[in-house]
Amino acid sequence: MTTFGTAEAAPGELATGRLEVGETRDGAAFGLPVAVINGAEDGKTLYVQAVSDGDELNGVGVLRRVVPRLDPAEISGTILVTAIVNYHAFQVARHRNPIDDTKMNRAYPGDSEGTSSERIAHATFEAASRADLIVDLHQGSTSRMIDEVRVRCGRRHRLHEECLELAKVFGAGYVLDQKGPDGQLARAGPDEGIPTIDPELGGSVGWDEASVQTGVDGLYNVLANYGFLPGDANYGDQTRAAGFDQYGAPRGGLVEFAADLGDRVQSGDPLFEVTTPFGERKAEVTAEENGILWRSRRLPQVATGEYVCSIGVDVDTY
Ligand SMILES: [Zn+2]
Repeated sequence: MTTFGTAEAAPGELATGRLEVGETRDGAAFGLPVAVINGAEDGKTLYVQAVSDGDELNGVGVLRRVVPRLDPAEISGTILVTAIVNYHAFQVARHRNPIDDTKMNRAYPGDSEGTSSERIAHATFEAASRADLIVDLHQGSTSRMIDEVRVRCGRRHRLHEECLELAKVFGAGYVLDQKGPDGQLARAGPDEGIPTIDPELGGSVGWDEASVQTGVDGLYNVLANYGFLPGDANYGDQTRAAGFDQYGAPRGGLVEFAADLGDRVQSGDPLFEVTTPFGERKAEVTAEENGILWRSRRLPQVATGEYVCSIGVDVDTY
């Protein structure tokens, strides 16, 4: 029998339940929705979670499509799933947990007696620590972003190669290979000896079908490649960036882009212009380095200095 919260599954069974992590403001116990898929055959353990940031719904869009299609009789190993991590932020469709105004992905590995976010991080990290592989489904919040996978442990980490391999197998096409800030699950997992990736499934308000499909394909690739399911993973070479150049607006007004997400840009190429409401050009911004247009703001109106876009730089293929 494998248990996760109130979910209990014997070999060959799938069970759902709740992982209780405390009480809401009205004193009622609350729990995160969790699932256990206990394969009929032995194998590795995979931990997957979504909605670590409360406005990032593509990940739960992936899970609600993949989980019903998984037949435990065909699976070797165990899959532990937390469908909605940031319970309080999800309720109000915000990025951060409103109880402590904290970003969940800065709270790992968490603290069982800490703040609201630290307690949720601790409870989910306990489950993640039972696994051989961790997949933490994110997206570029409500901005516009390419589908990519982040490796956050840093190039000197002993698990860097294993994380990079997991990112390649996921097969989104793009990888950001850059050490992340403290408190990320994709930092805490490798520190426990568990290869971890942070797929960033585009950016959207609500669901984006193309990015959800990227996540479905990526999860099936992981399941096939690591022996949970029969068959082969289907992925190619990945375009890898080592960092970002961020561009802000030199003037206030309305932004019009000269390049699309995913476009290769050369140093000196136009990226965007800022105009008045009457279409008069106030500023043009060009690329300072070669790279790929990776992420951009969604709304066109900007104040001086406001974020406009990011270029992935130091690009190679692996
Ligand atoms: Zn996120």
